[in-house]
Formats: sequence, C-alpha cells, structure tokens
Amino acid sequence: MGTYALTGSASGMGREAARKLREAGHTVIGVDIANADVVADLSTPVGRQVAINGVLAACNSALDGAVLAAGLGPAPGAERSRLISQVNYFGVVELLQGWRPALAATGNAKVVVLGSNSTTTTPAVPKRTVRALLNGDVEKALRSVRWFRGTAPTMMYAASKIAVSRWVRRTAVTAQWAGAGIRLNALAPGAVLTPLLEEQLASARQAKAVNAFPLPVGEFANPAHLADWICFMLSESADFLCGSVVFVDGGSDAYFRADDWPRQVPLRRVPSYLYRFGSYRRRR
Ligand code: NAD
Repeated sequence: MGTYALTGSASGMGREAARKLREAGHTVIGVDIANADVVADLSTPVGRQVAINGVLAACNSALDGAVLAAGLGPAPGAERSRLISQVNYFGVVELLQGWRPALAATGNAKVVVLGSNSTTTTPAVPKRTVRALLNGDVEKALRSVRWFRGTAPTMMYAASKIAVSRWVRRTAVTAQWAGAGIRLNALAPGAVLTPLLEEQLASARQAKAVNAFPLPVGEFANPAHLADWICFMLSESADFLCGSVVFVDGGSDAYFRADDWPRQVPLRRVPSYLYRFGSYRRRR
C-alpha cells in the first residue's frame, strides 16, 4: 500500500480521489485550506512551505505519489486573478519541487496534476501571461490580464492551467523526474459538477456561458468518475505514461479542434536526433 500527498482533499475531485485511495488501503495525506491533515493556504508562499514541510514530516520523506487538485475557478472579484495564479500555478509547482526528493525516494512514484480543458478551449489567452507564470513573475502575469477587466479571472484561469500543463510536460521528461522513476502527468477535465463549477453556475452571467459551452456528451461529469481516472494514473498501469495531458472532457476539446492535434511536425522542427537513425533509443 502506498502513501500519497493530495491537495484539495476537502472538496470535489480531490475529496473523491482521497476517499477512493483510502478505501483501497492507501495512506493519504490531505492538504487543504481547512478540514485536512495538513492545513495550509496555498495562495501564499508561507502557506505553500507549510504544505511542503507538513507532508514531508507526515510521510517520513517517502511518497508513492501525489495529486495536485487544489484550485480556484474563474469567479469575479478584484483579488481573484491573483489567487488563481498563486493556487493553480505556484500551488502545484512549488509543492512538487519541494516533494520531489520524497517522490524519488520510492523509485516509481506517480504524480497527477489537475489541468483543465480550458487550456485549449479559451480563446485569446495572452502568451505573455503564460510566459510570466512560467518565469515566476506574478506581478507581470497580473498586469498582462488587467485590461480584460471583468473577464481577467477567466484569462488567468486558462493561463494558469496552460502554464502548469506546460511545466508538467517540460519537467516530466527530465533526468530529475522521469530519470528518478517519477511519472508526472496532467489530467485535463471538462465540466465536472463540483463546488468549483457550482460557484460558476450560481452567477447568471457565468451560468449562461457554462451552459452554452459545447459539451458533446450532453451532461456534466461527476467528480467520482474523474477520481477513477486519477487513481488509474497513480497505478502501475501508468508506468509508461510520462508528460501526458489526458483530456477527459466529454468531447469539448475535440469539438473545437479536431484537426489541430495530432499534427505532423513541420520539417524545420524535426528534432535532430531523428536524423541519427534511432541513436536516441540505442543510447538508453
Ligand atoms: P473544488 O472547489 O471542489 O475543490 C478545490 C479544492 O481546492 C477545495 O477543497 C479548496 O478548499 C481547495 N483550495 C482552494 N484554494 C485553496 C488554497 N488557497 N489553499 C488550499 N486549498 C485551496 O474544485 P474541483 O472542481 O474538484 O477542482 C479540482 C481541480 O480540477 C482544480 O484544480 C480545478 O481547477 C480543476 N478543474 C475543475 C473543473 C470542474 O469543472 N470542476 C474542470 C477542469 C479543471
């Protein structure tokens, strides 16, 4: 049986995943702003350090996996964009950097980061917001969405999820992660009926947008269903899954961009190792 760190354990998909893992006999160290084994506010650097230290102390510096499900949705409010950037991006990246040695210690750890299909379905997310987050510059990221006014949190939400998904893909394949036996992947859900979505449905303007959004399967997902995907991505079946962003979104991503992906690599971007006739594989 394994030991898993899990943020966002008090609600929604995180709570369901924690319940399923515990039912299967695993130990879960839940992290949340309240009602958790480690109570920490992931919107502040101090809170993130509390989460890192609290989990490391509770797991004896050895983790079989982690689930990063804490997150905030795009609700209105002057401070919302800041909170989204802090929790959804830094609340994932800083925690995983802090927990990496404990994940490496077990030799075959699995990590699931909750992304979102807003990454590929939100139009006009500024590239510079994503870039600023990846560079760790919150103030620049906030300045870059300011002129969107009322929809700034929507832009910051999508940007935070693009940045965190990109961080997952860049990081997963490195020697410190894949090379240390850690399988780091992201799950990108569509609309799942949790308190996060309910908060959006409670505002008439946002509810209109959510309900008008194309959802080919016709119904919101329930959090237990996504929790099954999380548990699967933590299992041995995911040994060969590395740096993937797995869309489980009722078809919205495919609806918008069926022909965008997979896409052939343009000749000018063919990686040089392909010219060396498989030398990459032989080297390993
Ligand atoms: P949820 O609101 O039910 O749960 C989110 C959890 O994060 C809550 O327990 C909350 O307390 C915690 N959290 C928020 N701010 C925090 C902070 N400052 N410090 C510590 N914990 C904090 O939401 P959910 O729908 O289960 O979302 C889980 C993840 O999935 C999120 O990252 C969300 O962005 C993502 N997601 C959700 C949907 C959806 O439709 N529900 C769709 C795509 C992606």
